[in-house]
Amino acid sequence: MKLVFATNNLNKLKEVQEMLPSSIELLSLKDINSFDEIDETETTLEGNAKLKADYITNKFSYNCFADDTGLEVESLNGKPGVYSARFAGEPSNSENNMQKLLLDLENKENRKAQFRTAVSLNLDGKQFLFEGICKGDILTKKHGEKGFGYDPIFKPEGFKKSFAEMTSAEKNTVSHRGIAIKKLVTFLSDYKK
Ligand code: IMP
Repeated sequence: MKLVFATNNLNKLKEVQEMLPSSIELLSLKDINSFDEIDETETTLEGNAKLKADYITNKFSYNCFADDTGLEVESLNGKPGVYSARFAGEPSNSENNMQKLLLDLENKENRKAQFRTAVSLNLDGKQFLFEGICKGDILTKKHGEKGFGYDPIFKPEGFKKSFAEMTSAEKNTVSHRGIAIKKLVTFLSDYKK
């Protein structure tokens, strides 16, 4: 079965392909010659994931899934959430986003936060939704060089280091995206048409 992952991120693509049974051939947007910018205009992670998957299924008639992730900070009432990529304005800049978040939390005792990933799958005319959550804390300054986005200032629960101090394999075992993708992979592995 051919299945499109609506992403241009080859790292994400490789990671998911390695987890899938060989009967499922994963295709990227480039593989299907889709070079359109799909604007994330919805106000929820689920809405954006569905919007991206639907765009591809409607235009190219492929089974497809898409993901969207946000960082939800408790004392900021769940912000930046769906707007995590552009928290400090556009164009998206991780360094500015982290500095803004550190400033917003400067006088706050509660630094609890969670990363949440929504994955929306269109398969044989039906739609399925998967969620992954990773709880943790926002650190008071950056730690580590690896990863991307907010990784240097996010410490997952039960660990003494930030996401940016973990190897990608280590991060994948506990991360929001890792959890959501594992649910998707289990579903696809058991799926009978
Ligand atoms: P996306 O939906 O995967 O593009 O994620 C949206 C934004 O959330 C990114 O631009 C990052 O700022 C942030 N983000 C998503 N996943 C992670 C992660 O695993 N670590 C750190 N930041 C992330």
